[in-house]
Amino acid sequence: MKILVINCGSSSIKYELFEMDDESVIAKGLVEKIGTESAIVTYEVTGTEEKMRTAEILDHREGLHLVLRLLMDKNDGVITSEDEVAAVGHRVVHGGEHFSKSVIITSEVRQAIRKTVDLAPLHNPPNLLGIGAAEQQLPNAIHVAVFDTAFHQTMPKHAFLYALPYVLYTRHKVRRYGFHGTSHQYVSEQASLFFEKSLSDLKIISAHIGNGASVTAIENGISVDTSMGMTPLEGLMMGTRCGDIDPAIVPYVIAKEDLTLIEIQSMMNKHSGLLGVTGMSSDMREITQAMEEGNIQAKLAIDMYLYKLRKTIGSYIAAMNGVDILLFTAGVGENSSFVRQEVCDQLSFFGIEIDREKNNTRSKETREISTSNSKVKVLVVPTNEELMIAREAKHLVDHT
Ligand code: AMP
Repeated sequence: MKILVINCGSSSIKYELFEMDDESVIAKGLVEKIGTESAIVTYEVTGTEEKMRTAEILDHREGLHLVLRLLMDKNDGVITSEDEVAAVGHRVVHGGEHFSKSVIITSEVRQAIRKTVDLAPLHNPPNLLGIGAAEQQLPNAIHVAVFDTAFHQTMPKHAFLYALPYVLYTRHKVRRYGFHGTSHQYVSEQASLFFEKSLSDLKIISAHIGNGASVTAIENGISVDTSMGMTPLEGLMMGTRCGDIDPAIVPYVIAKEDLTLIEIQSMMNKHSGLLGVTGMSSDMREITQAMEEGNIQAKLAIDMYLYKLRKTIGSYIAAMNGVDILLFTAGVGENSSFVRQEVCDQLSFFGIEIDREKNNTRSKETREISTSNSKVKVLVVPTNEELMIAREAKHLVDHT
């Protein structure tokens, strides 16, 4: 069974075509700068070189049309007809309280996703555009929505509510939702497979730290708390997002700097975090290098980043009254032995002990980096949100 996974941004379509018999990727690529005369299309058939071209692509429908033409190309193609695609898995960022698992897309589902647009104005509209375009181009496939928020719908009320007037929750659904759910679910399942232990016997803390970053507490296989909130702005210090701040700062800075609401939102989302503190970069590689070269601001930003990450992990040990596995994933989590070492060294009180040699060994596989004495197992788990989305779609196809 072949499943196409698509992830649409406001001007982009990321896609991967899977053969689910062996869960292999047959082809993948990216369409960028949609809405312009010079959209960039990259296309790679597994085992061959990546190709790139530019084209006029005015909307997501045209973008997806081109993707399908590439997938069916006489020379480079990997399928002969659209009908070979049994299902399309769509990444949808916000499912609000409507969705606690993946669903086959119907008009009611589309309607419910539309209702959450207010909660994710940057993400859900392009996700809906992608769904519309794919339904038009692949009318015979089953379309499945997989939500970033769904995994966290198991959080108890005391964890997901803000201490605001309760009416804001009942009237406007102001609450914490959490994100990166597909990734946290995938890596926690990988951890349970790695130790051949049932998820129901495990307390896991999953640190998904990339450009965006969140930590999740997973007990009995379900999310019991996570650091992102109503939007992906809450929680850790990130590449360009500030994470937790005193909410009273917002009106204060608006008044002092004469900003509009849109400007302060943009400041907190796009010009804060590592970028805001260093004034230089949001990229952990560049900042680590600058710190090694003696840049004081880079050192400060990294100290702040590590401190917040460590405090959040510690708070989730308290939330679950223990932890069996601490795992690191995403760009920084998978690649920065420095960040992993610094965080874990300062958590030694909890019985967390890293093996330096294992931590410095690079691999694309799930691997343990804790010592044999470590009370808590520490893992590096490469995330694979696309595969998780494809699995979810296959599961729904198999059960209809
Ligand atoms: P992601 O959003 O998951 O793609 O992660 C992007 C982040 O991972 C960026 O901040 C990168 O600098 C960071 N990253 C990737 N490779 C490394 C590395 N080898 N060392 C430190 N950070 C890295």
